[in-house]
Amino acid sequence: MKNIASVIVDVTTRQLDRPFDYLIPPKWEGTIQPGMRVIVPFGPRKIQGFVINLKNEHEVKLDKLKAIEDVLDVTPVLNKELLQLGYWLTKKTLCFTISAFQVMLPAAIKATYNKYLQCTEEDKVNLPDEWQALFLNRTKVDWKEVEHLPLTTVQKQIERGVLEVVYEVKSKGGKKTERVIGPIVSLEQLKQVYEETKAQKQRDVLATFIEDASPIRKKMLLSSLGITDAPVKSLVKKGVLKEDEVEIYRDPYAERDFVPTKPFPLKEEQQVALDSIKQSVHHNRHDVFLLYGVTGSGKTEVYMQAIDEVLQQGKEAIVLVPEIALTPQMVERFKGRFGSKVAVLHSALSVGEKYDEWRKIQRKEVSVVVGARSAIFAPFENIGMIIIDEEHESSYKQEDNPRYHARDVAIERGIYHQCPVVLGSATPTLESFARAKKGVYHLLTMTKRTSEQGLPTVEIVDMREQLRGGNRSMFSKELHEKIEDRLQKGQQTVLFLNRRGHSTFVMCRDCGYVIECPHCDISLTYHRMNQRVKCHYCSYEEALPKTCPSCESDYIRFFGTGTQKVEEELVKLFPAARIIRMDVDTTSRKGAHEKLLKTFGDGRADILLGTQMIAKGLDFPNVTLVGVLTADTMLHLPDFRAGEKTYQLLTQVSGRAGRHHLPGEVIIQTYTPEHYSISLAKMQKYEQFFVEEMQTRRSRQYPPYYYLTLITVSHPELMKVVNVVEKIVAYLRNKCANDTIILGPVVSPIPRIKDRYRYQCMIKYKREPELINWLQFVQEQYAQEMTKDNLQISIDFNPTMMM
Ligand code: ADP
Ligand code: ZN
Ligand code: ZN
Repeated sequence: MKNIASVIVDVTTRQLDRPFDYLIPPKWEGTIQPGMRVIVPFGPRKIQGFVINLKNEHEVKLDKLKAIEDVLDVTPVLNKELLQLGYWLTKKTLCFTISAFQVMLPAAIKATYNKYLQCTEEDKVNLPDEWQALFLNRTKVDWKEVEHLPLTTVQKQIERGVLEVVYEVKSKGGKKTERVIGPIVSLEQLKQVYEETKAQKQRDVLATFIEDASPIRKKMLLSSLGITDAPVKSLVKKGVLKEDEVEIYRDPYAERDFVPTKPFPLKEEQQVALDSIKQSVHHNRHDVFLLYGVTGSGKTEVYMQAIDEVLQQGKEAIVLVPEIALTPQMVERFKGRFGSKVAVLHSALSVGEKYDEWRKIQRKEVSVVVGARSAIFAPFENIGMIIIDEEHESSYKQEDNPRYHARDVAIERGIYHQCPVVLGSATPTLESFARAKKGVYHLLTMTKRTSEQGLPTVEIVDMREQLRGGNRSMFSKELHEKIEDRLQKGQQTVLFLNRRGHSTFVMCRDCGYVIECPHCDISLTYHRMNQRVKCHYCSYEEALPKTCPSCESDYIRFFGTGTQKVEEELVKLFPAARIIRMDVDTTSRKGAHEKLLKTFGDGRADILLGTQMIAKGLDFPNVTLVGVLTADTMLHLPDFRAGEKTYQLLTQVSGRAGRHHLPGEVIIQTYTPEHYSISLAKMQKYEQFFVEEMQTRRSRQYPPYYYLTLITVSHPELMKVVNVVEKIVAYLRNKCANDTIILGPVVSPIPRIKDRYRYQCMIKYKREPELINWLQFVQEQYAQEMTKDNLQISIDFNPTMMM
């Protein structure tokens, strides 16, 4: 009898990262399976764990075994494949096994929840009598009421499909309203109260509404001013402000009818690509395809027709899109084609909604998942294809433990299911394109747009010359004229700014001094609303100095422009234009994103101004002009991929213009027009960019010529950090091959975060099969100190963030 369970417990320390054995009490014998969560005694505590394996009595020493206290799941939450994938993640990223399991599950399952047994009205008649009594007049029974029953009897009904276990998140998930603060007196009265009020915090609140009287989310108001709600309450009491509870609606897609669409007759290039993918679907082959197609070449149509094929085989498909490209437009396309067979997973959903979508997948109510990174763990059991759209996006790499890349997970699952993986992009990563050229991936190329229009013409404007010519505006003469022209013709313009809000760094124009955070050594961000500067890493803030702390000049200003500022200038220059601004501030409310886009799509606005979030996936026929206000901001990041990222971004943004009947034009404003990332983006010559950039990478020994691993050590004491990092480097120098390069130890690009000093070491290597074992050894050596002494050693294989 297998009455011993091996359990991975929810403790994140290196020494305890292994399975522990527990006795299965007789009442649960035969019901507990691998992949179920249980509660077990651990030292003085009771904690959660995952059952990974069952054993016979004679396989273990029985005398010291404790028994399982409780069973949390009636059926496994992780199937056999996902358990195995968990081990693989652990091995590849050196994370804790428990973290690997948890990352694959929706947050609702980790949060505090109420557990219910549920039965639909229709299913009630199928229940045995004793169960019918339990569900009399209700469809939901609290788990506590059935806890005492033998688990097998519950399991039996669940297997028959009449009962279901559901979790309801207690606090976070169910929330449907939001508190909003706004003035209820005139501007004059606000100013008067402001004069009369002494309390500084109340004055700050009043100043906010004097500047802009529109209501604002309470949470945002409090956090931006750094206050508690006491001053707000006082002002409400005085009858100056009012607090409202505003409904925010739940599933943004639920009440909508999606217009069904039919497959397009494909263009030749699309057909060739689809045929190759179909071959591999039919033969159940695990091939990796790189679908390299210019923007507007109809990649999504190819994905959808390939999925059609997969569904006809009775299999399932996962489609990953970057979070910011998961626009309502994108969702609409998939829902339009596959209707209710589609589940959507993205971060704008509440914990409860995400869990709802996940359950649809687990119960096999859907066969297509469209989602951001974590959707790669969708608990399908019969996957026929995995698609990663915009494969170059850095958001596919998770920056916390486990530091996995969705592409690697996709390939691992593709091997397990013997199904193709399709990577799509107009600007593939150098790594992927190099692999495709070597034949490791199958290269599928689409060079033509589906519309009769070719790619838009791109013009580069040198902003230094504008300045020399006396133009101090953020709009060049060229861009200004073209916007004017579009307004006259009734066509639409998209303006792109690579920044957020009204905030950027503060610099002295006389001496160049930049205000930095005293804890994090990065520049502080200016917030106009309350005239303060703030740290984005640790939220430290202070008032904006009146004079430069270094040279006392009073010519200290914030540098660069935010979307709000651009909007103001647009209003001045084009008073008649209808403008929509899209950034984090205007889209934080649920459904706002969709509403703004719809307004623009319906032609009720002339100009769409926005940040990164408008760079991808938008497809509006009437857009004939795209302007990039500052192309340089990314070029100067401390990252060897800065050039690649700039090229990608400019291509994506340009791709928004002239996608249908009208030809498109793009204006790129820059201070460094000579850089090849910018000049080649103008000509849309990816392959030439690839060749140039590969040369740089080769000469500087970067990927794809070398692999990278980044080790970062941090601790509150500088000496400790230096000591540990030096020992690690010495150990690795001793072990690594001759042609492996170990850079450092050096201070990290951000030397301190939250009062912790940070040092790093970068390893560049061609072949180092043992590296992962050595690093595991390093972690084991410092396990004690990492648990007890606040030491952190983070290891990032193939890092995408160099900070
Ligand atoms: P990409 O993802 O490559 O940027 P899309 O899939 O968004 O391109 O396609 C661009 C436009 O072309 C979309 O409006 C799409 O509906 C349309 N389209 C795609 N395939 C065809 C086709 N075979 N014939 C006509 N139009 C098509
Ligand atoms: Zn100065
Ligand atoms: Zn800071």
